[in-house]
Amino acid sequence: MTAATTFQLLDGKRCSDSLKADIAKEAAEVKERRGQPPHLAAVLVGNDGASKTYVEAKVKACESVGFRSSLIRLPETITEEELLHRVAALNDDQDLDGFIVQLPLPSHIDPEHVTLAIDPRKDVDGFHPVNIGNMVLGLPSFLPATPSGICELLKYYSVETAGRHCVVVGRSNIVGTPMSILLSRNAYPGNCTVTLAHSRTRDLPSITRQADILVVAIGKPEFITADMVKPGAVVIDVGIHRIPDASKKNGFRLVGDVRVEEVSAVCSAITPVPGGVGPMTITSLLLNTLKAARG
Ligand code: NDP
Repeated sequence: MTAATTFQLLDGKRCSDSLKADIAKEAAEVKERRGQPPHLAAVLVGNDGASKTYVEAKVKACESVGFRSSLIRLPETITEEELLHRVAALNDDQDLDGFIVQLPLPSHIDPEHVTLAIDPRKDVDGFHPVNIGNMVLGLPSFLPATPSGICELLKYYSVETAGRHCVVVGRSNIVGTPMSILLSRNAYPGNCTVTLAHSRTRDLPSITRQADILVVAIGKPEFITADMVKPGAVVIDVGIHRIPDASKKNGFRLVGDVRVEEVSAVCSAITPVPGGVGPMTITSLLLNTLKAARG
């Protein structure tokens, strides 16, 4: 296995800072035009630590670009019916451009019922079937934040995609499946030949080794090793995990689904964890909210 000659770190923080500067300008224009900046609400049910961190990061990002944001905290014990009532009220709230309900939800609430209850015009997470359907057809829609953020990152670094073989590992509704659709569209980024792999895929290494662009979203720490990667491939690591690490002040370190040190020696470009896909996901949410505010 030969090492790639040039290497590029796909810095999601840098890309998202650049996009956020443009979003801030447009938010100011929206405010000028209608007297109110774009307004995003985030619903957080329960006390899950990771969810709280994600939601707070989203609220902070809104502030950084001049959006208005509202954090709605609801108790773990809320019933599905009560939550659906709250969603209906948010749908009707004229003051609000878009909202998200942070997943996962407590086990007594069916996340599908909640997603279906959100007005597709306010569904800035892009999870509602109407938005997914429009995305598949290439019609205007809110795109799911993580795959759309990855597309923005590929654009920012001018990664060539047409005609390249992209292997997406993981087929979740929010990451892997929409990623496979976006990269196979007749657009840029897109025009890839896409393989979508999952837990029933046979001989995964032989598939991932064919990838010019490898997107990994399986939720297993450091699962992808150097021998699973084609030399010169572009690697997008979506996973994010806390691994206990006594040498760190906070007692843990963050890793992705890719064993970054050894894979970096083989690939031509890779997203870091943290600072790769994470910031792009939040920035895509801002882009969707701006779009909702523009109407
Ligand atoms: P899910 O758990 O919903 O899906 C995981 C997918 O990986 C499934 O399709 C599963 O296959 C597949 N999979 C699991 N094990 C294997 C295996 N051994 N070989 C091949 N495929 C496998 O995960 P998500 O898509 O929601 O998230 C993936 C990761 O990305 C997580 O670490 C999550 O925290 C992170 N994430 C990060 C974001 C960010 O902004 N950075 C945003 C969203 C997620 P099957 O369908 O057959 O079960």
